[in-house]
Amino acid sequence: MWIGISLGISLAISFIVPFPFSLPIIIGVFILLSFYMRKRAMRKMGMSGTSLFGGNSSSISYYCMSCGTKHNQAACPRCGSKMKRVGS
Ligand SMILES: [Zn+2]
Repeated sequence: MWIGISLGISLAISFIVPFPFSLPIIIGVFILLSFYMRKRAMRKMGMSGTSLFGGNSSSISYYCMSCGTKHNQAACPRCGSKMKRVGS
């Protein structure tokens, strides 16, 4: 996602600044942005570990407590039970 942002910034810079001068500025912006994004991602991970990414990642699986079906939905697709346990 941030690649699009940095691409837009570099495009804007290349419009404002003539080409030979814009190149080092664009590279600098790219480096700064990647540093900023890495810092933010690390802070996010350090603060609220899996709870933030757990919803999207497939590393955590849920198993229905009544029939044992593996699913990631609110209710079991097989028996409709909302009771589930976390498994790996
Ligand atoms: Zn079930």
